Amino acid sequence: MLATTHLIASLLLIQLMSLDRNDAFVALLFGVFIDVDHFFGLKDYVAANGASGLFHLEDLMHPEGQWKSLLHSPMAAVVVGQVSVASRLAIPVLFWGAHLVMDYVQESFLGVFSIAEMAFCASLLSILVWIRYSGFARDRPEGSFVDYLRSEVEFFRKTVGRRSSCRPPRVRAVLRW
Ligand SMILES: [Zn+2]
Repeated sequence: MLATTHLIASLLLIQLMSLDRNDAFVALLFGVFIDVDHFFGLKDYVAANGASGLFHLEDLMHPEGQWKSLLHSPMAAVVVGQVSVASRLAIPVLFWGAHLVMDYVQESFLGVFSIAEMAFCASLLSILVWIRYSGFARDRPEGSFVDYLRSEVEFFRKTVGRRSSCRPPRVRAVLRW
């Protein structure tokens, strides 16, 4: 599926499971970012079809023409399973599994870039916004929908900002010592 659909589905699952920031990061890694392997597959696609193949949208979007590699194969279950056992968390397996199920549903039923997929993506987004807006309205009954959107932007800035400003305090301590 499109990365946007994977992102919205993962955010919805994160919301439903009330995951904290660190768990949410792992969830997004396995639920969305495994599509990074498309870029590696893309290299093989170009090698087989030439760079001009990139302009044949129909070939590119055909299920067999998609450039899915290792992380989308059943073999990856071994790796993802080990990560889950090592971290004592079911999150990697759960989100990776959800990603693969979504890809399967898209290829078997919805079609790539289809109206059905867009509708599916829009429904997931509506559910996510509805859940989050209900929470906001409960806390701030006087707040408008625009206030809600502002609060989401602020939440996003705080979440991403804090993560990127994370410094490894121990390194400083070790250096001083
Ligand atoms: Zn995928």
